[in-house]
Amino acid sequence: MALKYITDESFGLLAKDKKVLARFDFNVPMDKNDPTKIADTTRIDEAVETIKAILEHKPKKLVLMSHFGRPKGVDQKYSLEPVGKYLAEKIEQEVVLTETALDRGIRTLLTLSEPKIIMLQNLRFHPEEEANDREFARTLSTYGDVFVFDAFGAAHRKHASTYEVNAFFKNKAYGGLLLKREVESLDKIVNDPVKPFVAIVGGAKVSDKIKIIEQLLVSVDKLLIGGAMAYPFLKALGNNVGASLCSDDDVLLAKRILGTPGKGKIVLPSDHIGSLTFGGAPVDIGQVNISDDMMGLDIGPSTLQNFSDYLTNAKTVLWNGPMGLFENVNFSKGTFGIAKKLSTLNNAFTLVGGGDSVAAVTKSGLASKMSHISTGGGASLEYIENGTLPGIQALKFGID
Ligand code: AMP
Repeated sequence: MALKYITDESFGLLAKDKKVLARFDFNVPMDKNDPTKIADTTRIDEAVETIKAILEHKPKKLVLMSHFGRPKGVDQKYSLEPVGKYLAEKIEQEVVLTETALDRGIRTLLTLSEPKIIMLQNLRFHPEEEANDREFARTLSTYGDVFVFDAFGAAHRKHASTYEVNAFFKNKAYGGLLLKREVESLDKIVNDPVKPFVAIVGGAKVSDKIKIIEQLLVSVDKLLIGGAMAYPFLKALGNNVGASLCSDDDVLLAKRILGTPGKGKIVLPSDHIGSLTFGGAPVDIGQVNISDDMMGLDIGPSTLQNFSDYLTNAKTVLWNGPMGLFENVNFSKGTFGIAKKLSTLNNAFTLVGGGDSVAAVTKSGLASKMSHISTGGGASLEYIENGTLPGIQALKFGID
C-alpha cells in the first residue's frame, strides 16, 4: 500500500467544504533572551506550503495541531501563541488559538463560518498525548473529516496525534508536502543509494549514533568519522587521544564496530586541531596521536583534504554531525570545509540531517546548495535506521 499525499486527487474531493485536521511540527526554538520571540522559524515556514495547498481545496475548516516543548501539564510558557501569531502574519489569515486541545469552545468554533483556521493549543498540555491515549485521539479526530500528517520531526514518536489518531481516519489520512519531501529524500539514502555512497558522521557521542553507524556500514562505500565521535575509534585502535572527549563506554562500542566486516570502510582523522583547554588557543597537531595535555577539537587540514578526496566522486552523501567544536571559529574549519566541499558536488545527492550539522550548514550560508536538509534530527536518523517511522506506518496502513 502506498502512502497517500495531499497531492492525490482523492484528497481534494474529501477536503472540499469539510473539516481538515492537520498535525504539524511547530516545535520551534525560542530566543533565549526573549521567550516570546521565535529564534528559528524554519519549521513553521516549511509547513506553510502544505497549509496553502490544503486551503486551495476550500475546506470548511482547517484545524492545526502540534506539540511545543516539554511542559508538565498546562503551562503558558509553552503556549503556541507566538507560533499562531507568526503563522497568521505569514499566510495573511486569521488563526484562532484555542485554550486547550479539549476546550469546549472548539465545538462552537467548528460550527461558525469564521474563522477558517483554528490552532489547537499545545497538545502536550495533556499527558494523554504522549501516552498515545485512544480516547484523547478520538476527541482530536472529531475536529476533522480528513487527516493530514506533516509533522516529519515528530513521526518517530508514537503519540496520540502522530499515531493513534490514524485509527479514526481509515482511508482518509494523507501526508503533507514536507513529509513527502523528507520521505522521498531519505528513501534515496535508504533504498539503493546511487554509488559511490559516502556518509560523514560527527558530533559528540558514539552511543547516540551506534545503530546508524552499524546500519550505514552495510550500504556505504566509505564512512568518514570526524568530531569527538572519532576519538573512541582512534583510541580503540591504540592511538593516544590525550584529553579529548572520549568515554570508556564509547571506546567499547567503537571496538565492537571495528570488529565487524564493515570496518574497512571506516576512515578516521589523521591529524587534528587541538587546544590545552576547552575552546582555548588552537594548536595544529600535525599527527594522529594527541599528547596527554591536549584535546582534539577539530579535524586537521590533512584530514579535511583526505575526507574531501573521498567526497569528490561520491554520488550520494549523507552528513550527520559536525567535525568539531564548530560553534567556536577556531575549531570550525573542518565542519565548514565539509559544507563547502558538499556545495561543489553538482552531480551528487547530498542530504544533511541532524540538528547540529544542519545548524552548521545554515551558518555557513550554503544550505541552498544541498539537495535536502532534513527538518527532523532524531526522526531522520531513525528513518535511516529502520526504513520507516511509526507515524508514517500508521498513516500508510492505518491502525485498528
Ligand atoms: P551531536 O549532538 O552528537 O551531533 O554533537 C554535536 C556537538 O558536538 C556540537 O555542539 C559540537 O561542538 C560538539 N563537538 C564536535 N566535535 C567535538 C570535539 N572534538 N570536542 C568537543 N565537542 C565536539
